[in-house]
Amino acid sequence: MTKQQENQRLQGKVAVVTGGGSGIGRASAILMAKHGAKVVIVERNGDRLKQVEKEIEQSGGTALSFVADISKPEMMESCFKRTVEKYGTLDIVFANAGINGVLAPIELMTDQDFGTTVDINLKGTFYTVKYAIPYMKEHGGSMIITSSINGNRVFSNFGFSAYSSTKAAQVAFMKMAALELAQFKIRVNAICPGAIETNIDENTERTPEVEEITIPVEFPEGDHPLADKPGSAKQVAELALFLASKDSSHITGTEIYIDGAESLIHG
Ligand code: NAD
Repeated sequence: MTKQQENQRLQGKVAVVTGGGSGIGRASAILMAKHGAKVVIVERNGDRLKQVEKEIEQSGGTALSFVADISKPEMMESCFKRTVEKYGTLDIVFANAGINGVLAPIELMTDQDFGTTVDINLKGTFYTVKYAIPYMKEHGGSMIITSSINGNRVFSNFGFSAYSSTKAAQVAFMKMAALELAQFKIRVNAICPGAIETNIDENTERTPEVEEITIPVEFPEGDHPLADKPGSAKQVAELALFLASKDSSHITGTEIYIDGAESLIHG
């Protein structure tokens, strides 16, 4: 591989990134564009979305953005339709947008709060995958879903029952999709990050009652064994790039943990 090929791993590809206005999605959209992809950012925060689009274009990349809510099926259907109308194809889907939502004891969690987390994190992932399939089944491609260590390896974050349930379900859904879509050469994988420095706290509402159900757990050696601090969105973006590119051509139906071993001590 020449240096230029190494730096242009998604040349000619079209990638849709949800939640691309911030954190992991933003870093991934920028990195994918740097590697030659035409990137379509789907995001409900219009201001941030425009900033990322501008940033990509200023550095010579190509980007398009749609203000949309991933939990609204008609919006997601329209995003993919407009993407293909504009760029003629679709190769990569990064179903990344998500919220922590309301953190509360199960007894006090409202139906509405639980439902909002499910609607965005789980049903939003379903819509993102579902409405992309018609545009990818002719030629194949890569789908990547952002899950979490929560719900898969970690169950000790009190109040996260809705969030963790959606993150576990995303991995089950990813495996069902990987098998079902293999005949179309569509690969589907999940990323399970540990703590990553992003703006996720803006979409987190911790109720004071969580204190009442919390069992104190202490980690004398710190809870980030590898780096002694949370990971960066760029580190997760590098993994998304790998899963989006031909470098991972035989990987499908797999969840990959990116947490510096945090989940191995948290449990
Ligand atoms: P972030 O808040 O920085 O970015 C998430 C983006 O998604 C935001 O721009 C937000 O506006 C957007 N978004 C939220 N709901 C949306 C909706 N309904 N429709 C469209 N856009 C929506 O957070 P992040 O940490 O980059 O989160 C990305 C993903 O990573 C999420 O799925 C999250 O669960 C997962 N994750 C994050 C961490 C972490 O520590 N940051 C750890 C594990 C998993």
